[in-house]
Amino acid sequence: MRRNIGSHPYLLAIGIAVAVIGLAAIGYFFIYQPYLARSYTDAQASRILMSTVVDVSAYGRDAETYVKQAFDEMERLEGLLSRHIVDSEVSQINAQAGEWVKVSDPTLAVIELGIEYGELTGGAFDITVGALVSLWGFGTGDYKVPTNEEIASALQTVDYRRIEVDKAGKRVRIPAGTVLDLGGIAKGYIVDEARRFLVENRIQRAIVNAGGDISVIGSRPDGTPWRVGVQNPDDPSQIRWVIPLQNNSVVTSGDYQRYFVQDGERWHHILDPRTGFPARRIRSVTIVTDKAARADALSTAVFVLGLEEGSALVEKLPGVEAIIVTSDDHVWISSGLAGSIVSL
Ligand code: ADP
Ligand code: MG
Repeated sequence: MRRNIGSHPYLLAIGIAVAVIGLAAIGYFFIYQPYLARSYTDAQASRILMSTVVDVSAYGRDAETYVKQAFDEMERLEGLLSRHIVDSEVSQINAQAGEWVKVSDPTLAVIELGIEYGELTGGAFDITVGALVSLWGFGTGDYKVPTNEEIASALQTVDYRRIEVDKAGKRVRIPAGTVLDLGGIAKGYIVDEARRFLVENRIQRAIVNAGGDISVIGSRPDGTPWRVGVQNPDDPSQIRWVIPLQNNSVVTSGDYQRYFVQDGERWHHILDPRTGFPARRIRSVTIVTDKAARADALSTAVFVLGLEEGSALVEKLPGVEAIIVTSDDHVWISSGLAGSIVSL
């Protein structure tokens, strides 16, 4: 008797379960698959932005639309953050140096981040290097090795600690003569924002590559990690390492990216704020971490700091990995990366 009483609700439960599974199956095969799932697509597009080729590949619902919108967003942000665009907010800050300038949230965020990396790296990373960068001709293409006097006078204007940020009033002020240059961090920030936009719109897999500042969402279509090549600084057409990436970012700063040759020497665009000269002894620094902005700033900073100080900083920071190649071809790979990268 007791068994019989118990078996009725039991049968009912099975009946309900079968009905639910049946409805779910009907929904899946007759509604979801033919209609809803159909708009999942692969999309790929490239644009010239931030003086480089930016490439986005994505998979997800309406991927094509979101990739296009991600590019529009990157273009908008470049329009705020580039000092080579005349009406950008950074150009306004520079044009009105000495006075408070009202800026939008992204500009404020990148400047605050820049100051933070200035503090973290003891000034090896300094977003007030603009006058120095211009003096060497980077950005304008008017390359020349400056005189010591010119360098000394440009260095007077370099000090991230003199940037004033009024967070509540969303205003920024730099000293007269100082030139703000977000070139060492903005690209990474913009890549992060594109990635964030794609994630918010439920893109499941993507790779955003802004001339070597790379961030990925998920894994490749076959489920394996994205693979990103790191160039050989001696021959940038060759890939020397392959790094597996899954939901993180990689950025490389190299002396082969932007440089000119004068008097038989190669002068590149990563400047040491302590000397005013291109940082020596390093050929390239690759940083792997969660955010591209972080990787971007740290790759520039570690390049300036050199092997000893740079590698010590990397090992001190949780979740930050690196490959450092020195001028005498010594290669240092951080402990957390050594096991997962492939050397070619
Ligand atoms: P890339 O421009 O190739 O992405 P980086 O991320 O290393 O390379 O940034 C270099 C740029 O950053 C320079 O072109 C300049 O605008 C700026 N910069 C140069 N030296 C420094 C520095 N010590 N700190 C902060 N920014 C720098
Ligand atoms: Mg950088």
